[in-house]
Amino acid sequence: MTIVLLIAVLGRVAPASADLDWHELGEETATLLSDLIRIDTTNPPGGETAAANLLARKLRAEGIETEVVESAPGRGNLYARLPGAGGARPLILLSHLDVVPADPRDWRIPPFAGIRERGHVYGRGALDAKGLAAIQAMAVIAVKRSHGILPRDVIVLATADEETGGSAGAGWLVHHRRDLLGDAEYLLTEGDHIHLRGGQKIVQVSVAEKTPCWLKVVAHGESGHGSTPPRFTAVTRLVRALNKIRRYEPPISLVPAVESYFAALAPLEKEPLRGELTHMRDALEEPQFLADFTRNPRQNALIRDTITPTVLQGSLKTNVIPAEASAQLDCRLLPGESPSAFIAQLRSVIGDDSVSIETLLSFPSSSSDPSAPLLTAIRHLSATDLGGAPVIPSVIPGFTDSHYFREQGVASYGFIPFILTEEDEKTVHGSNERVSIQNLENGVRRLVTLLRTVPPAAPK
Ligand SMILES: [Zn+2]
Repeated sequence: MTIVLLIAVLGRVAPASADLDWHELGEETATLLSDLIRIDTTNPPGGETAAANLLARKLRAEGIETEVVESAPGRGNLYARLPGAGGARPLILLSHLDVVPADPRDWRIPPFAGIRERGHVYGRGALDAKGLAAIQAMAVIAVKRSHGILPRDVIVLATADEETGGSAGAGWLVHHRRDLLGDAEYLLTEGDHIHLRGGQKIVQVSVAEKTPCWLKVVAHGESGHGSTPPRFTAVTRLVRALNKIRRYEPPISLVPAVESYFAALAPLEKEPLRGELTHMRDALEEPQFLADFTRNPRQNALIRDTITPTVLQGSLKTNVIPAEASAQLDCRLLPGESPSAFIAQLRSVIGDDSVSIETLLSFPSSSSDPSAPLLTAIRHLSATDLGGAPVIPSVIPGFTDSHYFREQGVASYGFIPFILTEEDEKTVHGSNERVSIQNLENGVRRLVTLLRTVPPAAPK
């Protein structure tokens, strides 16, 4: 028994240089992910340094250069670099180490225990995005162990603070440690993945994102005692403004990236939907199609700006009329929309000069070229590893840290090489978040394939 085990272990210690043991790498990735999940990096406050240090130790043990850079005490970002032959500009693998909160009462399995059960690793961050951090780190480790030299340097970044906007993570790095990015050409991060729908695999790579325009609507009025209210107060003005906003529907707008996304999905559908998606502009003119299409909140969000009130603030006491009442609006704009034009439109909808609008978060929208050679490499991956599944450049209603890098001229793409069902997707920011060990193993292998095949693109 002991001898057999020993042989099995030894057999895996030194695979031939080119033949990596993917199964073993998958197991190692699962262990690394469990360890990362056990470090609670709920943001706020984050506390990502411990997780960044864990990754740094793992990479350094393989002889890979690393640095943990803190934007503030406890807010650590991991940087690592695997030198290539220098024939092409670097590629960045980006993930984030912070996670959204998890209430253990909603979970069947404790969210910060890193438990493995029936072929899955469970825990907050398993998919978003510690699972990604783990496969990205293991992919460069695998390349290093295989003694292969890639055409380009690979930079690994696992950052803090993505979930609250990235100002202490990716945003801080691009502004204070721009040197770490070098003249990187490409970046791969979260945003989209390989979808499994009715047995069909669809490889989606996000090339554009909606942009946040987070606003605070503030109504003013005279403060006073609740027993003798004036006709209008800050609170009633706010309620009236919000009611107008609630009734206002931003117009339908089909931007080119969204139009091509649905046209690319069309061949996967049956008629009449196939024809409708192919000719979205015409289809959206049909009231019945429009009503059916926009009933799906994700689809609705891709063809118009959205406005949703979230935080409400007024008086702290039942019998005190406040001088100020406010609501925060989570607005999301389509690629190419102008935030100032959007705010001006909202002002005219509210039509009340005593109500002001402050901007909490807004940045210009950005997108990356859907025909870049990196997409060719993903198509090649699909042909060799995913049975020739269609590769579709997508637009996502949410946003990631990509925009910080797109603003620096790095072509950035959202692609996690996991195959996920809708059930799996629902666990992101939800309960019982999990990733299969099969996905971890295949994810490392697919990333290594990509790193080896991304063609050197246009000279700088
Ligand atoms: Zn994320």
